[in-house]
Amino acid sequence: MKKINVTVWNEYGDDQKEKAVKDIYPHGMHITIAEFLNKDESIIAKTAVMQDAEHGLKEEVLADTDVLIWWGHMLHDNVEDYVVNRVTDHVRRGMGIIFLHSAHKSKPFMQLLGTSGSLGWREAGERARIWTCEPSHPIAQGVPNQFAVENEETYSEPFGIPQPLETVFISWFSGGNVFRSGVTFQRENGRIFYFQSGHETYPVYHNEHVQKIITNSVKWAAPVIKVNSLDCPNIQQLEKI
Ligand code: ZN
Repeated sequence: MKKINVTVWNEYGDDQKEKAVKDIYPHGMHITIAEFLNKDESIIAKTAVMQDAEHGLKEEVLADTDVLIWWGHMLHDNVEDYVVNRVTDHVRRGMGIIFLHSAHKSKPFMQLLGTSGSLGWREAGERARIWTCEPSHPIAQGVPNQFAVENEETYSEPFGIPQPLETVFISWFSGGNVFRSGVTFQRENGRIFYFQSGHETYPVYHNEHVQKIITNSVKWAAPVIKVNSLDCPNIQQLEKI
């Protein structure tokens, strides 16, 4: 069986090297995410960070990536546009992409979806309850009908996204807000999943159900096909004109 090659990308800014974050993710969230993905025998997960040359996303890296996972927050504007264009081109040609948490304001997210990604937020360590809306969806397999994350940043509707292909999860927060927390899209040949959980000062990526959702989403987003070009071919007629 062909394995799924995953690149876990993290902006890995100074805020993610502070004690509150390092206590939870000693080597960074990208390492924790890659570690749990690599427990699945069908996945090979590597990592890249913004500080690497070309943000760690050179052409040869993306050409060898089936699914890219994106975590960014404070440094969205520092991502070079040529790298963003390279990422979105690969998605349109077939690479899957998973946007986590605050990646709703990342350049690739907004470029692929064509909307603002705006939402309401509040950092109060509230209890989140994540509900499965589509129990038959591949991303929901092995995930309870609902589960709680004791401390999470609150995100709230309205969420500035196009109508999703599927709303797999919605979340409720103890302050009263609700949010479409797990949504899918497709752009040309590429599958896209956005998942809300994962504020950096809470141990969300150690939660077994969150890990299951992200692992499932990698398998769902793996390319069905990858095409080399999206140019418009000049075509020969099939019938006598
Ligand atoms: Zn956050």
